[in-house]
Amino acid sequence: MKKNFKAIVIGLGGLGSAATYWLSRRLGSDVLGLEQFEIGHLNGGSQDHSRIIRLSYHNVNYVELAKRAYTAWDELERDADEKLIVKTGGIDLSPADATIPISDYTESMDATGVPYEMLDAKEAMYRWPQWNLTDDIQVLYQEQSGIAPAAKAMAAHLRMARAYGAVLKDNVPVTAITPIGDEVEVTAGGETYRCEQLVIASGAWTNTALGFFGEGINLEITQEQVAYYDTPHVADFMPDRFPIWIWMTEPCYYGFPVYGENGPKVSQDCGGHGVTPDTRTFEPNKAYDERLDNFVKQYLPKAHGGRILTRTCLYTMPPDRDFVLSKIPSQPNVQVAVGAAHAFKYSSQIGRMLSELALDGSTPHDISPFAYDRPVLFEADPEKSYMI
Ligand SMILES: Cc1cc2nc3c(=O)[nH]c(=O)nc-3n(C[C@H](O)[C@H](O)[C@H](O)COP(=O)(O)OP(=O)(O)OC[C@H]3O[C@@H](n4cnc5c(N)ncnc54)[C@H](O)[C@@H]3O)c2cc1C
Repeated sequence: MKKNFKAIVIGLGGLGSAATYWLSRRLGSDVLGLEQFEIGHLNGGSQDHSRIIRLSYHNVNYVELAKRAYTAWDELERDADEKLIVKTGGIDLSPADATIPISDYTESMDATGVPYEMLDAKEAMYRWPQWNLTDDIQVLYQEQSGIAPAAKAMAAHLRMARAYGAVLKDNVPVTAITPIGDEVEVTAGGETYRCEQLVIASGAWTNTALGFFGEGINLEITQEQVAYYDTPHVADFMPDRFPIWIWMTEPCYYGFPVYGENGPKVSQDCGGHGVTPDTRTFEPNKAYDERLDNFVKQYLPKAHGGRILTRTCLYTMPPDRDFVLSKIPSQPNVQVAVGAAHAFKYSSQIGRMLSELALDGSTPHDISPFAYDRPVLFEADPEKSYMI
């Protein structure tokens, strides 16, 4: 068994599977991907069928990065000969007293040349009669928005990584990481490997991996849940008739047309409670569920019905909810990525940027907002701003 690699990736979730793919395009069999659970497990932050992909973001840097994300997905789709991204269009719904100013989005898209439409509630209900909206609600429509298929996209990244020769090992938890000169030694599943460049894409377990370097950053992990509704009006929620949507205020709800299960999906952003990877459960939270039901009954009455299923999932968030995408200053051959619970849409692009950081020392995109050494990641009692 090969023990020395140019690059090793810890974690084959959304970000790690993408990093392994983009590294393998340049390194072939000289990249090793390590996963503590079976590939495709349900224990982290990337499982389930769907994630929202959109260009409508609250600042210019994220909008520009989102454009590159679509390009990265296109390249993967061509390479894998598999269609992944499903464009359904997307609506950001903004009540009069919204806590998330819709102007942040319109100004960012104006500044980056992204087209969109602003609709009033009547126009929006004319287009999407599934909605029951009050007159004060403004609706921003952006046609490029849609679905990034979480499980399928991870599988495509890993299938192609294998095709380029990458070595993937699952059910092998990394139990030790030791910097040795210009290299890093990694022990996983009782085997020890060496690499020149290490990528930490460990999601909710990031601080465990950083701990081996005596490092650690401010991260909050929450247990979130998503609900699939068993509505008798399922035809009204098919992707060609119902867009992805985000309710742009607090509490912030979001949802999807029918995809992966036979009913629309609804969830709340940051509706969960604090956990650790060891204390999290797979039991949905009753109050969380009631909030979803109340929202659906009021604003999407035709979607309401029984539950097909409810699934839990982990968010991992720095206090400012910006990504961490950076080399570790004290370990220049170690790069780390944390998705701040909104990174799946960017995962292929983030994977590409991680491969560029590892192999070229830098990436063409401005990642300074995602720096590892930004103060909020180390402050004693950081102010949290999760609403985006
Ligand atoms: C409910 C929910 C809804 C979301 N909605 C959206 C959305 O609509 N749009 C969007 O863009 N993003 C969304 N996100 C966020 C997005 O899914 C995440 O940011 C992204 O998937 C995180 O990927 P990751 O690779 O960092 O984490 P994970 O997928 O959790 O991967 C980390 C991996 O590292 C492995 N690992 C950890 N420690 C070790 C070790 N010691 N040894 C070996 N392996 C290890 C873990 O087992 C895991 O597989 C959502 C997330 C959730 C939970």
